[in-house]
Amino acid sequence: MKIYILADMEGVSGISGSSFVLADGANYQLGRKLLTQDINACVKGCFKAGATEVIVCDAHCTGSNILWEELDPRAELIQGNGYRARFPEIAGSAGLILLGYHAMAGTFEGLLEHSYSSREIQNIWINGKKVGEFGIDALIAADKGIPTIMTSGDDKLCEEAALFHPEVITCQVKKGLGCQAARMLSAIKAHELIEKKTVEAIKKIKTIKPPKTKFPVTLRVEKIERGTVPNRDSVKLVDGRTYEAVGRASVEDAFKKLFC
Ligand SMILES: [Zn+2]
Repeated sequence: MKIYILADMEGVSGISGSSFVLADGANYQLGRKLLTQDINACVKGCFKAGATEVIVCDAHCTGSNILWEELDPRAELIQGNGYRARFPEIAGSAGLILLGYHAMAGTFEGLLEHSYSSREIQNIWINGKKVGEFGIDALIAADKGIPTIMTSGDDKLCEEAALFHPEVITCQVKKGLGCQAARMLSAIKAHELIEKKTVEAIKKIKTIKPPKTKFPVTLRVEKIERGTVPNRDSVKLVDGRTYEAVGRASVEDAFKKLFC
Protein backbone atom coordinates (compact mmCIF):
# COMPACT_ATOMS: atom_id res chain seq x y z
CA MET A 1 0.00 0.00 0.00
CA LYS A 2 1.44 3.30 -1.16
CA ILE A 3 0.71 6.48 0.83
CA TYR A 4 1.48 9.94 -0.50
CA ILE A 5 2.25 12.76 1.95
CA LEU A 6 2.11 16.30 0.62
CA ALA A 7 3.85 18.46 3.20
CA ASP A 8 3.26 22.17 3.64
CA MET A 9 4.88 24.12 6.46
CA GLU A 10 2.40 26.58 7.98
CA GLY A 11 0.45 23.91 9.86
CA VAL A 12 3.46 22.10 11.30
CA SER A 13 3.49 21.70 15.09
CA GLY A 14 5.72 24.26 16.81
CA ILE A 15 5.39 26.81 14.00
CA SER A 16 3.66 30.03 15.07
CA GLY A 17 4.50 32.66 12.46
CA SER A 18 6.15 33.75 9.20
CA SER A 19 9.68 33.73 10.66
CA PHE A 20 9.54 29.90 10.66
CA VAL A 21 8.40 29.45 7.05
CA LEU A 22 10.21 32.13 5.04
CA ALA A 23 13.71 31.20 3.87
CA ASP A 24 15.15 34.45 5.27
CA GLY A 25 13.18 34.23 8.53
CA ALA A 26 14.97 34.15 11.89
CA ASN A 27 13.41 30.78 12.81
CA TYR A 28 13.48 29.13 9.35
CA GLN A 29 16.18 26.55 10.16
CA LEU A 30 14.19 25.52 13.23
CA GLY A 31 11.06 25.44 11.04
CA ARG A 32 12.74 22.93 8.70
CA LYS A 33 13.58 20.68 11.63
CA LEU A 34 10.03 20.88 13.01
CA LEU A 35 8.63 20.09 9.55
CA THR A 36 10.87 17.03 9.24
CA GLN A 37 9.86 15.83 12.72
CA ASP A 38 6.12 16.05 11.90
CA ILE A 39 6.76 14.14 8.67
CA ASN A 40 8.71 11.44 10.48
CA ALA A 41 5.84 11.02 12.97
CA CYS A 42 3.46 10.62 10.03
CA VAL A 43 5.77 8.18 8.18
CA LYS A 44 6.03 6.12 11.38
CA GLY A 45 2.23 5.94 11.55
CA CYS A 46 2.01 4.97 7.87
CA PHE A 47 4.30 1.95 8.25
CA LYS A 48 2.75 0.99 11.59
CA ALA A 49 -0.66 0.86 9.88
CA GLY A 50 0.53 -1.29 6.97
CA ALA A 51 1.95 1.03 4.31
CA THR A 52 4.65 -0.53 2.17
CA GLU A 53 5.69 2.61 0.28
CA VAL A 54 5.61 6.25 1.40
CA ILE A 55 6.33 9.22 -0.85
CA VAL A 56 6.83 12.62 0.78
CA CYS A 57 6.49 15.67 -1.46
CA ASP A 58 7.97 18.91 -0.13
CA ALA A 59 5.29 21.36 -1.28
CA HIS A 60 6.12 24.58 0.58
CA CYS A 61 7.54 27.43 -1.51
CA THR A 62 10.57 26.16 -3.48
CA GLY A 63 10.10 22.59 -2.27
CA SER A 64 13.45 22.35 -0.53
CA ASN A 65 12.56 22.69 3.14
CA ILE A 66 12.62 19.12 4.46
CA LEU A 67 15.90 17.97 6.00
CA TRP A 68 16.53 15.07 3.64
CA GLU A 69 19.31 13.61 5.77
CA GLU A 70 16.96 13.41 8.77
CA LEU A 71 13.99 11.87 6.95
CA ASP A 72 12.81 8.43 8.07
CA PRO A 73 14.80 6.11 5.74
CA ARG A 74 11.69 4.12 4.82
CA ALA A 75 10.22 7.15 2.97
CA GLU A 76 11.30 8.69 -0.34
CA LEU A 77 11.37 12.44 -0.91
CA ILE A 78 10.29 14.62 -3.82
CA GLN A 79 12.23 17.85 -3.60
CA GLY A 80 12.19 20.99 -5.75
CA ASN A 81 9.51 22.61 -7.88
CA GLY A 82 8.61 23.40 -11.48
CA TYR A 83 7.12 19.97 -12.22
CA ARG A 84 3.87 19.96 -14.19
CA ALA A 85 1.61 17.92 -11.94
CA ARG A 86 0.33 19.12 -8.58
CA PHE A 87 1.27 15.73 -7.08
CA PRO A 88 4.17 14.18 -9.01
CA GLU A 89 4.51 10.38 -8.66
CA ILE A 90 1.12 10.00 -6.93
CA ALA A 91 -0.18 7.30 -9.32
CA GLY A 92 -1.02 4.08 -7.53
CA SER A 93 -1.41 5.69 -4.09
CA ALA A 94 -4.11 4.35 -1.79
CA GLY A 95 -4.44 7.64 0.06
CA LEU A 96 -3.19 11.22 0.32
CA ILE A 97 -2.17 12.96 3.54
CA LEU A 98 -2.06 16.78 3.54
CA LEU A 99 0.39 17.46 6.36
CA GLY A 100 1.17 20.85 7.90
CA TYR A 101 -1.72 22.57 6.10
CA HIS A 102 -3.39 25.90 6.81
CA ALA A 103 -6.79 27.57 6.49
CA MET A 104 -7.90 29.48 3.40
CA ALA A 105 -7.12 33.19 2.86
CA GLY A 106 -9.18 35.46 5.09
CA THR A 107 -9.95 32.90 7.84
CA PHE A 108 -10.41 34.73 11.15
CA GLU A 109 -7.54 33.85 13.55
CA GLY A 110 -6.24 31.19 11.16
CA LEU A 111 -2.50 30.78 11.66
CA LEU A 112 -0.68 31.90 8.49
CA GLU A 113 -3.96 31.67 6.57
CA HIS A 114 -3.66 32.10 2.80
CA SER A 115 -4.56 30.46 -0.50
CA TYR A 116 -1.41 29.65 -2.50
CA SER A 117 -0.07 33.23 -2.30
CA SER A 118 -0.68 35.58 0.62
CA ARG A 119 0.67 38.48 -1.44
CA GLU A 120 -1.50 37.88 -4.49
CA ILE A 121 -4.72 35.95 -3.85
CA GLN A 122 -7.76 37.16 -1.91
CA ASN A 123 -10.23 34.36 -2.64
CA ILE A 124 -10.74 31.17 -4.68
CA TRP A 125 -14.09 29.55 -5.52
CA ILE A 126 -14.82 26.19 -7.03
CA ASN A 127 -18.25 25.98 -8.73
CA GLY A 128 -19.24 29.04 -6.68
CA LYS A 129 -18.11 27.67 -3.32
CA LYS A 130 -15.23 29.33 -1.52
CA VAL A 131 -12.29 26.96 -1.04
CA GLY A 132 -8.76 26.90 0.23
CA GLU A 133 -5.77 24.75 -0.62
CA PHE A 134 -7.19 21.79 1.31
CA GLY A 135 -10.34 21.65 -0.85
CA ILE A 136 -8.59 22.11 -4.17
CA ASP A 137 -5.89 19.58 -3.38
CA ALA A 138 -8.45 17.04 -2.14
CA LEU A 139 -10.35 17.46 -5.43
CA ILE A 140 -7.23 17.19 -7.60
CA ALA A 141 -6.45 13.89 -5.86
CA ALA A 142 -10.11 12.88 -6.27
CA ASP A 143 -9.70 13.37 -10.06
CA LYS A 144 -7.34 10.40 -9.86
CA GLY A 145 -9.64 8.41 -7.56
CA ILE A 146 -7.36 8.95 -4.56
CA PRO A 147 -8.99 9.86 -1.22
CA THR A 148 -7.51 12.48 1.10
CA ILE A 149 -7.43 10.53 4.34
CA MET A 150 -5.75 12.81 6.88
CA THR A 151 -4.72 16.43 7.35
CA SER A 152 -2.85 18.24 10.12
CA GLY A 153 -2.67 21.90 11.11
CA ASP A 154 -4.40 24.39 13.38
CA ASP A 155 -8.04 24.28 14.55
CA LYS A 156 -9.20 26.49 11.63
CA LEU A 157 -7.67 24.16 9.03
CA CYS A 158 -9.31 21.20 10.76
CA GLU A 159 -12.72 22.92 10.73
CA GLU A 160 -12.36 23.85 7.06
CA ALA A 161 -11.29 20.33 6.10
CA ALA A 162 -14.10 18.64 8.04
CA LEU A 163 -16.69 20.92 6.42
CA PHE A 164 -15.37 20.28 2.94
CA HIS A 165 -14.65 16.56 3.27
CA PRO A 166 -16.41 15.15 6.37
CA GLU A 167 -14.72 11.74 6.10
CA VAL A 168 -11.16 13.09 6.42
CA ILE A 169 -9.34 12.46 9.72
CA THR A 170 -8.20 15.81 11.13
CA CYS A 171 -5.19 16.25 13.38
CA GLN A 172 -5.16 19.52 15.33
CA VAL A 173 -1.63 20.23 16.55
CA LYS A 174 -2.26 23.85 17.54
CA LYS A 175 -4.92 26.55 17.91
CA GLY A 176 -4.63 29.69 15.80
CA LEU A 177 -4.83 32.85 17.90
CA GLY A 178 -4.19 35.14 14.95
CA CYS A 179 -2.25 35.10 11.69
CA GLN A 180 1.04 35.15 13.62
CA ALA A 181 0.22 33.44 16.93
CA ALA A 182 -0.82 30.01 18.15
CA ARG A 183 -1.38 27.97 21.29
CA MET A 184 0.53 24.72 20.77
CA LEU A 185 0.75 21.18 22.01
CA SER A 186 4.20 20.12 23.19
CA ALA A 187 6.44 18.50 20.56
CA ILE A 188 6.06 15.05 22.11
CA LYS A 189 2.25 15.29 22.27
CA ALA A 190 1.99 16.69 18.74
CA HIS A 191 4.15 13.92 17.26
CA GLU A 192 2.21 11.24 19.15
CA LEU A 193 -1.05 12.71 17.85
CA ILE A 194 0.17 12.81 14.23
CA GLU A 195 1.26 9.17 14.43
CA LYS A 196 -2.04 8.14 16.05
CA LYS A 197 -4.22 10.01 13.54
CA THR A 198 -2.20 8.61 10.63
CA VAL A 199 -2.77 5.06 11.90
CA GLU A 200 -6.49 5.81 12.36
CA ALA A 201 -6.77 7.22 8.82
CA ILE A 202 -5.03 4.26 7.19
CA LYS A 203 -7.12 1.78 9.16
CA LYS A 204 -10.24 3.54 7.77
CA ILE A 205 -8.83 4.01 4.26
CA LYS A 206 -11.30 1.72 2.52
CA THR A 207 -14.27 3.67 3.91
CA ILE A 208 -12.94 7.14 2.99
CA LYS A 209 -14.20 8.09 -0.46
CA PRO A 210 -12.71 10.98 -2.47
CA PRO A 211 -14.85 14.16 -2.30
CA LYS A 212 -17.05 14.72 -5.36
CA THR A 213 -17.45 17.72 -7.64
CA LYS A 214 -19.57 18.54 -10.68
CA PHE A 215 -18.04 18.77 -14.16
CA PRO A 216 -17.31 20.89 -16.05
CA VAL A 217 -15.76 22.57 -13.03
CA THR A 218 -15.11 26.32 -12.73
CA LEU A 219 -12.29 27.70 -10.62
CA ARG A 220 -12.44 31.43 -9.93
CA VAL A 221 -9.60 33.52 -8.48
CA GLU A 222 -9.86 36.99 -7.01
CA LYS A 223 -6.51 38.76 -6.84
CA ILE A 224 -5.62 41.29 -4.15
CA GLU A 225 -4.30 43.91 -6.55
CA ARG A 226 -5.88 45.20 -9.74
CA GLY A 227 -3.90 44.82 -12.95
CA THR A 228 -2.56 41.37 -11.98
CA VAL A 229 -4.98 39.16 -13.93
CA PRO A 230 -3.02 36.99 -16.39
CA ASN A 231 -3.51 37.85 -20.04
CA ARG A 232 -3.95 34.47 -21.67
CA ASP A 233 -6.62 32.59 -23.63
CA SER A 234 -7.11 29.85 -21.03
CA VAL A 235 -8.75 32.22 -18.54
CA LYS A 236 -11.94 34.29 -18.68
CA LEU A 237 -11.93 37.77 -17.20
CA VAL A 238 -14.69 38.43 -14.67
CA ASP A 239 -13.61 41.89 -13.55
CA GLY A 240 -10.39 43.86 -13.09
CA ARG A 241 -9.14 41.58 -10.29
CA THR A 242 -11.06 38.35 -10.92
CA TYR A 243 -10.73 35.61 -13.50
CA GLU A 244 -11.75 32.00 -13.96
CA ALA A 245 -10.96 28.81 -15.83
CA VAL A 246 -12.97 25.71 -16.65
CA GLY A 247 -11.86 22.10 -16.34
CA ARG A 248 -13.93 19.76 -18.51
CA ALA A 249 -13.21 16.57 -16.63
CA SER A 250 -10.58 17.42 -14.05
CA VAL A 251 -9.97 20.03 -11.37
CA GLU A 252 -6.25 19.87 -12.08
CA ASP A 253 -6.92 20.98 -15.66
CA ALA A 254 -8.65 24.17 -14.43
CA PHE A 255 -5.94 24.65 -11.79
CA LYS A 256 -3.17 24.51 -14.41
CA LYS A 257 -4.96 27.05 -16.62
CA LEU A 258 -5.05 29.46 -13.69
CA PHE A 259 -1.65 28.95 -12.12
CA CYS A 260 0.80 27.16 -14.44
ZN1 LIG B 1 3.24 26.76 2.54
